[in-house]
Amino acid sequence: SSSQTQQFIDLTNRYGAHNYKPLPIVIHKAERIWVEDPEGNRYMDMLSAYSALNQGHRHPRIIQALRDQADLVTLTSRAFHSDKLGLFYEKLSQLTKKDMVLPMNTGAEAVETAVKAARRWAYDVKKVPDGQAEIIVSEGNFHGRTVTAVSMSSHPEYQRGFGPLTPGFKVIPYGDIDALKAAITPNTAAFITEPIQGEAGIVIPPEGFLREAFETCKKNDVLFVTDEIQTGFGRTGKLFACDWEGVEPDVYILGKALGGGVFPVSAVVANHDVLDVFEPGSHGSTFGGNPLGAAVAIASMDVIVEEKLADRSLNLGTYFIHQLKTIQNPHIVDLRGRGLFIGLELDVSARPYCEALMREGLLCKETHENVIRFAPPLIIEQDELDDAVRRIRKVMEAS
Ligand code: PLP
Repeated sequence: SSSQTQQFIDLTNRYGAHNYKPLPIVIHKAERIWVEDPEGNRYMDMLSAYSALNQGHRHPRIIQALRDQADLVTLTSRAFHSDKLGLFYEKLSQLTKKDMVLPMNTGAEAVETAVKAARRWAYDVKKVPDGQAEIIVSEGNFHGRTVTAVSMSSHPEYQRGFGPLTPGFKVIPYGDIDALKAAITPNTAAFITEPIQGEAGIVIPPEGFLREAFETCKKNDVLFVTDEIQTGFGRTGKLFACDWEGVEPDVYILGKALGGGVFPVSAVVANHDVLDVFEPGSHGSTFGGNPLGAAVAIASMDVIVEEKLADRSLNLGTYFIHQLKTIQNPHIVDLRGRGLFIGLELDVSARPYCEALMREGLLCKETHENVIRFAPPLIIEQDELDDAVRRIRKVMEAS
């Protein structure tokens, strides 16, 4: 008879849509950086659910907040107030130094929200002629999977068969300041960009780009909108990746680690001039801002701040990349990162390496075919990183 792992995989494949190609491991339980399959084998999680698990699996403080709130009230809808929503807003507003928050659930919904905000701002505040607002985006971006989010993409496979797409997006090469300047017109509402591209393979823009792009936007009355869904909350060694260049964007798009890997919580955060474009009835979500998510998000932010996870990420990331540099493999063409957000680029497919690493008890996922992303939970200890490097070296130096 086949293993429990194989049975769970077969069941999933039998009844589920095949829109993912997961590694053949079933996770049955997890704690901190460690996950366990049904047979009791342990693995180190070096993906952190695409950076949603910066605080580690099942952080006790976040789980406690979830339990406590589950015993009180889980959902009010926005037809009524809750006693948690304002506290969540206040904490996120203080962390981002922005006036106000619009809560959603998933990252893609927050991206949609930012697109709506930018367009309305263009019409109501900047006085762009109706229907003419343009938004500039970057080549290689990843903003999610809704029709509008894939309309922003430059990746044909994300769009194939899903048209007609949402119009109004202009794509420029990532990190190209001259292209940004050339793309701006009087109808430009916003430049929406990831400060470091995650799904594209941990792509870091040229130094100074974020600052120059921000200043260019300010000069032209264009909103600088940063998608920090994957890079936010300590992942890159700063609270937000824009902090690397001292940029305070007009709009933050946040998600993933905002929910501590426990509950989907996303948000758009900005000042009054932007978010005041929404009046009652113009936008919303049944679950957006629900008390369970709000309580989890408060605890998730507390953990980021009190456990100094951004500093940990910076220090441990520097250490980790230094160790990784000592690994010998002729197929390695680049190793780059900020904090514990690291990409190892190969001149061959990364998939067989990820499969071999899995067999060695280390979970990571190829991104963009030939890049291995190392992004462990930020609560990882240095000796655990040493353990990870041992496993990575064994796999990379064997082939
Ligand atoms: N934006 C970025 C930068 C992301 O990395 C992701 C997810 O990988 C998203 C948006 C979409 O978030 P979600 O999968 O929660 O819709």
